[in-house]
Amino acid sequence: MIEKSSSSLEKTILVGIITLKQSKKVLDEYLEELSFLTTTAGGQVIKRFTQKMDSPDPKLFLGKGKMEELASYIKRKEINSVIFDDELSPAQQLNIEKFLKCKIIDRTGLILDIFAQRAKTSYARNQVELAQYQYILPRLKGLWTHLERQKGGIGMRGPGETEIETDRRIVRNKITLLKKKLVSIDKQMSTQRGNRGSLVRVSLVGYTNVGKSTLMNSLTKANVFAEDKLFATLDTTVRKVVVENMPFLLTDTVGFIRKLPTQLIDSFKSTLSEINEADLLIHVIDISHPNYEDHISSVNFILSEIEAHQKPILMVFNKTDKYFNDKDEIKDVFDIEYEDRSLEKLKFKLIKEYHDRSYFISALNKTDINNLKKELYKKVREIHITRFPYNAFLYPDIS
Ligand code: GDP
Ligand code: MG
Repeated sequence: MIEKSSSSLEKTILVGIITLKQSKKVLDEYLEELSFLTTTAGGQVIKRFTQKMDSPDPKLFLGKGKMEELASYIKRKEINSVIFDDELSPAQQLNIEKFLKCKIIDRTGLILDIFAQRAKTSYARNQVELAQYQYILPRLKGLWTHLERQKGGIGMRGPGETEIETDRRIVRNKITLLKKKLVSIDKQMSTQRGNRGSLVRVSLVGYTNVGKSTLMNSLTKANVFAEDKLFATLDTTVRKVVVENMPFLLTDTVGFIRKLPTQLIDSFKSTLSEINEADLLIHVIDISHPNYEDHISSVNFILSEIEAHQKPILMVFNKTDKYFNDKDEIKDVFDIEYEDRSLEKLKFKLIKEYHDRSYFISALNKTDINNLKKELYKKVREIHITRFPYNAFLYPDIS
């Protein structure tokens, strides 16, 4: 991918609402993440707009006054696109586009765009394309009306309608075709997975950008692409790892994210099936992120959606090196809060919650990886000798 210079980056503004269910603090966190997603997709965030409302307006999402404010800002600053944090209905998207005369994207559209940019194998591309067509189908009328407006509109209604029908049929056919293709690739892949034989399978799971690929690299000699962007890779990577003398398969998977539409989870079920077939999960968490607890629940939610929540799981709290622990400053300002923020206190709290399943590491600096490796050896050994009891003598019990 060619990096764009900042002058050619798409100028965007972000929009979110504060409601009874979504406080200002929560919205700020969401917009922070949306901003990160936008940068990942190649955009530049110029400003964030928020509004307090009981519930979103069914027509324009925001109130009329706020929309006028946006329209004039867009004109003045030559904004290219407006990104909404929430999923817009096809009708809302169309109304807003008419009102603001600007490209309108919602969180789902943005995520799909990033997936499309990042998909490398034909399998991943097929899955993204399927999700994109499913997303586009109910929005076709909008796309067409948009064209109609450019062409002047008059006299377009009849052929316009027919055109939409044709488009819908084309899209539906594409969806059927892609689904068939995916089923056949699925079969191939599950045979391949079947052929991996007797090795125990371990899957790295976690929110996006927490350090899964970095940990994969630290545990293996693999060179998995890791960078500070959301969804750096879409495809799963599988490596054979040997800890002590115990071999097993380790899979790096796509990161999860909040507000991932169920429809999207559905299209990625095949990618996620790697997780379904794992014997053991390593849930990686970035404790330097202020919302890591929220991340844990999003990951748990998706794991239960794909019915993988009952699997044995190790909680690996990563980025201990980056954990905010500004003792002195905090002590100076608020004497009381200092203790609550220390890494030791956090460890104490998490160990209480997750017991002996929790590990604290820095995947980047390879700090405290050995304890995790030891635990992996123990767990993998347990699973292996349950299946092949006569192999027990090969692998000493180190506990
Ligand atoms: P993934 O999306 O979960 O696979 O995350 P990556 O492995 O791609 O890492 C995301 C970013 O976090 C990269 O910039 C990594 O260098 C960084 N990172 C990963 N582990 C650590 C860590 O232990 N400490 C710090 N400070 N950064 C880390
Ligand atoms: Mg990764």
